[in-house]
Amino acid sequence: MSRIAYVNGQYVPVSKAMVHIEDRGYQFADGIYEVCTVVNGRYWDMEGHLARLDRSLRELQMDAPMDHAALRVVMKEVVRRNRLKNALVYMQVTRGVAPRNHAFPPEGTPPSLVITARRFNLNRGDALAESGVSVISHPDIRWGRVDIKTVGLLPNALAKQAASEAGAYEAFLVRDGYVTECSSSNAWIVDESGALVTHPKGNTILGGITRQTAIACAEELQIKVIERPFTLEEAKAAPEAFLTSATSFVTPVTAIDGVRIGSGKPGPVARRLREAYKARAARG
Ligand code: PMP
Repeated sequence: MSRIAYVNGQYVPVSKAMVHIEDRGYQFADGIYEVCTVVNGRYWDMEGHLARLDRSLRELQMDAPMDHAALRVVMKEVVRRNRLKNALVYMQVTRGVAPRNHAFPPEGTPPSLVITARRFNLNRGDALAESGVSVISHPDIRWGRVDIKTVGLLPNALAKQAASEAGAYEAFLVRDGYVTECSSSNAWIVDESGALVTHPKGNTILGGITRQTAIACAEELQIKVIERPFTLEEAKAAPEAFLTSATSFVTPVTAIDGVRIGSGKPGPVARRLREAYKARAARG
């Protein structure tokens, strides 16, 4: 069966799905996106993803393509037409199609909306989480508003490629000596007291929905969370490190730039957090 995508009002096979060459997403990266999961047929953390979508639209003065109820219907239909029970849903909104000009197109130009879905397995990251992953450090060369989830991901792609070439899973992005986040996930360490430490929200990180849910899980487990910047040196000396994202959940980091973290095996705090997070996701 060919995969089905939603493109501006139509459900089409992915091989036939097209966007206009003057789409502003294509020409200016003038678009935003969300990636979320459907677990056992139910949306997971959808409120958070839709709230962040609205925030991204607002920050860029971009029109919403449709309201939340309609978006949910389209997402569900894409998942249904692809016959998926557990799915990774990708949703992208751009400022639409207009003759190339940096300034915004005329008011009323309809935004473009693309939604795709592919198979997702709740347990797919378990093997990686069991072994732990290695990361490299990489300069954070991104722009000043990475809190907006735009499709302008070239610096992120370059960082991920550098990680991949080094045989690593992710890159810890470093600005002024501090780890901001990763190329497609949020970065965390565990301090000597067992508390979780992660960069505070603001313009220099993307406020991850998984980050938010992980904080709620930590509260449930009575693990303290401190939102403050931490340095790369501190991370390398930390008892544990891990990363979070909608697709990798909570994934332990066991080496940074070849330096072993803690025992070099996933630590107990990250393990507990991952279990708690997965249990929450399975409950829906
Ligand atoms: N930071 C960046 C740069 C990301 O691309 C992502 C994933 N989209 C995250 C953090 C994690 O966000 P979430 O937990 O919402 O997937």
